[in-house]
Amino acid sequence: METTTIDEIQALEARHVLQTYKRAPVTFVRGQGVRLYDAEGREYLDLLSGIGVASLGHAHPGLARAIADQAKTLIHTSNLFYHPLQGQLAERLAKLSGLPRAFFCNSGTEAVEACLKFARRYWYTRGEPRAEFIAFENSFHGRTFGALSVTSNEHYRAPFEPLVPGVRFVPVNDPKALLAAVSRSTAAIIAEPIQGEGGVRPLTPAFASAITEAASTTGALIIADEVQSGLGRTGYPFYAPVLGLHPDLISIGKALGGGVAVGAALLSQKVADTISFGDHGSTYGGNLLACRAALCFLDELDGGGLLGRIARVGDHLERGLRSMAAGHPALIKEVRGAGLIWGLELTRDAAPVIQEGLARGVIVNRTAETVVRLLPPLVITEPEIDEALGRLDAAFAAVGAVQ
Ligand code: PLP
Repeated sequence: METTTIDEIQALEARHVLQTYKRAPVTFVRGQGVRLYDAEGREYLDLLSGIGVASLGHAHPGLARAIADQAKTLIHTSNLFYHPLQGQLAERLAKLSGLPRAFFCNSGTEAVEACLKFARRYWYTRGEPRAEFIAFENSFHGRTFGALSVTSNEHYRAPFEPLVPGVRFVPVNDPKALLAAVSRSTAAIIAEPIQGEGGVRPLTPAFASAITEAASTTGALIIADEVQSGLGRTGYPFYAPVLGLHPDLISIGKALGGGVAVGAALLSQKVADTISFGDHGSTYGGNLLACRAALCFLDELDGGGLLGRIARVGDHLERGLRSMAAGHPALIKEVRGAGLIWGLELTRDAAPVIQEGLARGVIVNRTAETVVRLLPPLVITEPEIDEALGRLDAAFAAVGAVQ
């Protein structure tokens, strides 16, 4: 039987899909640019882009063409053989990041996992095995064992302990605590330049320089997790250098494939030189389809002028958010972010705002309980921002009215 109504879809999932996600009761059936349409034909402005993934918006004609063309030609051959696209993609990412080597995988958590393994391997190869990682309170790096081990949220960690040993969590933006924690046993310091899931909290430049100092005095490697903040999201290719941070390893994912699953660990030559055949691998990683999608995204980002636009459009979004916040002082405490990643810190649980927004046709999400997060497609325009913020403002007014 074909399932079409939301009730049928929910009932079927309830019987057969593992219940790890609490979904909103909406079924999207198609998208166009920053707009999504549900099964009843209602239109929504998408200020979340599938949590920072649909970077070129929905049904982007160039991306759709590239994927279809690649699917008709060759999708996958495995990493047992060469194909022409992996090297091209690695070269483009090297130009963008300054890190000359790439390892391809399929998600953000896999990219983090690879970075952690490569950091351990670096010290092992040097004959000075170091097991410790320094991570930060409020961090989120993914859900596999390694990535979860450097994720601070107790709620995610507790049911799966013991996790990878040797991880120390340091308060974020506390240079003194960091300098006291990093030692000659530290393999790497892993940091999100902007903590995304933790509530859109940028690292301060002073803290970034403490990371640099701690790393240079102890030799510890720096891993920048740019899965959420990288690839144009902030108006820059990567946010670590904006803070003055020059990582040895960068993890990326999300925006890279525009919706096709692809992630990568980017490595400095010094780390790459310590990795041998067979140290890591992935059956799917960097297949033709994923690379083609990622190349198409990069064509738009740096060739198509998208990167240059984001800073301008991001300023417009920031101004709109600040003026909206000024209109709801009892609800919105703080506006944080850069470019096209923003968090509104509320005085209360953010869930009702998300629901009221959805009812008014605007998609945002709640993170860290009290934060409304915005990660719109990178192609969003100023008029679309104004329209979406009009709907979000109405959602805040509705929540404020019943407080
Ligand atoms: N790292 C960061 C900074 C993230 O924000 C996320 C996901 O939100 C991840 C890693 C994990 O990425 P994925 O869900 O693609 O595995």
